[in-house]
Amino acid sequence: MFGGASACSGALENPVLLTSCRFAATLSGMESPSGLAHAIIDIGQRLARKGFIAGADGNISARSSANEILVTPSGLPKGELTPEDLVRVDLSGKQLRGARRPSSELLMHLYVYQQRPDIMACVHSHPPTATAFAAAGIELPPDILPEVILVVGAIPLTIYAATGTDELPRALAPFIEHNDAFMLRNHGLLTIGRSLSEAWARHETVEHYAKIIHLARQIGNAHPLPEAEVRRLEAMRSSLLQSMREQVRK
Ligand SMILES: [Zn+2]
Repeated sequence: MFGGASACSGALENPVLLTSCRFAATLSGMESPSGLAHAIIDIGQRLARKGFIAGADGNISARSSANEILVTPSGLPKGELTPEDLVRVDLSGKQLRGARRPSSELLMHLYVYQQRPDIMACVHSHPPTATAFAAAGIELPPDILPEVILVVGAIPLTIYAATGTDELPRALAPFIEHNDAFMLRNHGLLTIGRSLSEAWARHETVEHYAKIIHLARQIGNAHPLPEAEVRRLEAMRSSLLQSMREQVRK
């Protein structure tokens, strides 16, 4: 049983951390399959509304049980999905339900769930500004905005990996244990979370952050926070995540 809310009492008075705690608090158990399907469809519509995807871009998945996930199909616009379009697969990739072909980036999703038992959802899209950084081969700095340090953490830029191959899991391998957001070089953005809301919040936050960094660099420069403050924020994030992982294990 998950119990993120109790991990948030006491010292965690920062509103950003409390936001993060609220996401964890939603994990009081597995969502019903139809609730999960509608939540995935909702994220697809948000991706489309925000202009994070074009055509059949992007893919979303969520864990429906310890060994199964619900994932978006390949080849359809993710803003126009119905529950019947979603595909259920086990963590070996075997299709259990649904008439459509699962996402061409299924291997990336499976790898995340295999490596991170704490992760319940993955959101992948091509948001223009974050993807522009990934295309330019420029990593987003880890030390500019407190909210990003607390909610997302560092955002590594992976090596390039061909879509639909096992190169994508290999590109994530150096970072999967410690990170929750990944800039896929010459490709797009992947964020993961302990709920769909958390994976989505990270997705939105990274794109917003990329826009701010881009603007700050046009105006002048994005000045880093003092090193001691970065360490303090990182320690707050680690302590929150650690305490949530302990709750998950109980
Ligand atoms: Zn993609």
